Amino acid sequence: MISPDEALELVIRTAAPLPPAEIGLDDALGLVLAEEISADQDYPPFPRSMMDGFAVRLADAGKTVPIVGEAPAGSVWSGELTDGTCIEILTGAPCPPGAEAVVPKENVQRHDMLVHLPATIRPGQSIAPQGSDCRQGQRVLGPGQIVAGMAIGTLAAFGRTSVRATPLPLVAIIATGEELAHAGQPLRPGQVRNSNGPMVSALVREQGLAPPRQLTVADRLDTTADALEACAEADIIVLSGGVSVGTYDFVPRALEQFGAETVFHGVNQKPGKPILFARRGRQLIFGLPGNPLSCHFGLHRYVAAAIRRLSGRKGHPQVFRGALADRIEIKGGRVNFLPGHAVPTESTGGWRVELLAGASSADIFQSCTANCYVELPAVTRTYENGTEVQFTWMGCASRSDE
Ligand code: AMP
Ligand code: MG
Repeated sequence: MISPDEALELVIRTAAPLPPAEIGLDDALGLVLAEEISADQDYPPFPRSMMDGFAVRLADAGKTVPIVGEAPAGSVWSGELTDGTCIEILTGAPCPPGAEAVVPKENVQRHDMLVHLPATIRPGQSIAPQGSDCRQGQRVLGPGQIVAGMAIGTLAAFGRTSVRATPLPLVAIIATGEELAHAGQPLRPGQVRNSNGPMVSALVREQGLAPPRQLTVADRLDTTADALEACAEADIIVLSGGVSVGTYDFVPRALEQFGAETVFHGVNQKPGKPILFARRGRQLIFGLPGNPLSCHFGLHRYVAAAIRRLSGRKGHPQVFRGALADRIEIKGGRVNFLPGHAVPTESTGGWRVELLAGASSADIFQSCTANCYVELPAVTRTYENGTEVQFTWMGCASRSDE
């Protein structure tokens, strides 16, 4: 059986970035750019006043001069400034030809349409010269960079309404299980609620992706295979349950019928050993065990890596080291993943990680405030409180703000 590290590498190697597309600026947040972005013109496009004040000539320092015009932002004062005159100018307005400095309003004495200027005025004071932020044609962003909020501002300033970027993948979820009750219905004996479907959907949306299509199917070969066919448009199909070797575990057989090629089935980890990863053409398919905690880790560790790769990002998750806040005994044989809550320690600048559930818990209830998972190697060992361990960040947690 392969190790969790080998499994992660296989996912990352199999998942190639989606072809770039032209995407509207409103939908580009968080995407990876696939083009060079350079300034369409000089910024600022004109010498810009940086203060509310008066555009002046240096020769008039210490003198009283008349105000011969006004330039609010968004307008152009069409004259040329000459010695012995000034204009009132507001922040963001173009300085007229002849203006050598802007003297802030608070540094002059004004009497009606006359202003007394200070004795010293620095050349160019409070004027941002044309092109001082950025020259026309200057490269500002490029392929591989992420369109963060600041980048959206830059693109909008450059007049862009769309960009070429790697789109986000589409995900579909198929929850398998005869025992799954439909949402909102009372539980009949033997039934459980489908918590994996909504959880996977939430975790996928947390990555910025569109809400996935969700299907639920009974434990039958034909219904499972039909559900796979119904997800033709998805880049990633996530199945929950039915992936092990039980009589009613139809996912491996349905995938065979679907024509998918298995990349791996079974990873030496706890929980989540039966996890399956397959591909059909460009589609990636994950069979996650139905046990909610296994499903959760499978999603965070492997599906999230595939989402990142398809989106043009690096596949590997962010890994940190921190001190365990608890003592735990680990049985060897399989790599252990444990839900945890990591908190920065003020004194050392490091992390302290609290474990949220016993190593054997199959469910998510005790760990629903987790913000990370701890990875402990496949060796029998007792970890004392304070032992440094590796953990992977999973994102914000359902805790009150600390
Ligand atoms: P399976 O992987 O199909 O053998 O399921 C393992 C365990 O997870 C069983 O106890 C199932 O009832 C439970 N389970 C399967 N699918 C879901 C689901 N969608 N939501 C919650 N629990 C599930
Ligand atoms: Mg099942």
